[in-house]
Amino acid sequence: MTTDQPTHYRKAEQDFRWEGVEKMPYKEDERALFKAVTRQILFSDPALDGELRYFEVAPGGFSTLERHEHVHAVMIFRGHGHCLIGDTVRAVAERDLVSVPPMTWHQFRATGDALLGFLCLVNARRDKPQLPTADDLAVLVKDPVIATFLGGTPAVSTSDDQTKT
Ligand code: MN
Repeated sequence: MTTDQPTHYRKAEQDFRWEGVEKMPYKEDERALFKAVTRQILFSDPALDGELRYFEVAPGGFSTLERHEHVHAVMIFRGHGHCLIGDTVRAVAERDLVSVPPMTWHQFRATGDALLGFLCLVNARRDKPQLPTADDLAVLVKDPVIATFLGGTPAVSTSDDQTKT
């Protein structure tokens, strides 16, 4: 078997790695759009038209706050943290499922001491994420729960939902 043949089996390795899967650190962004996030593309096959990725956010890190037409299906896979979906901040932990609808602001944060690892299923062909404008952010932070979340220290400390009131 040569290395350029398709691989139909990738053995799990130590530390949430998989055989032959490159671990890509997200480059740090001068606008601090995201922090301490790595990405591994686990499945990407043109015949499927979807991709399964594994993201890992180090403690204190966060994914990009963004929205787009394509959707995400997320399973929390390791650790715990919080996510913002639309106008709702929730604590999330291993095996929780999170759906991100079209054009919905979303961000995942590894709050506290734990990292946050999650599987993310996404369309292979997808639109480019939109970033919040200053006006968008001003609307979001009117909600104190969201403001606290974006500040990195969510008031939500249990797995209970905390929804906008
Ligand atoms: Mn997204």
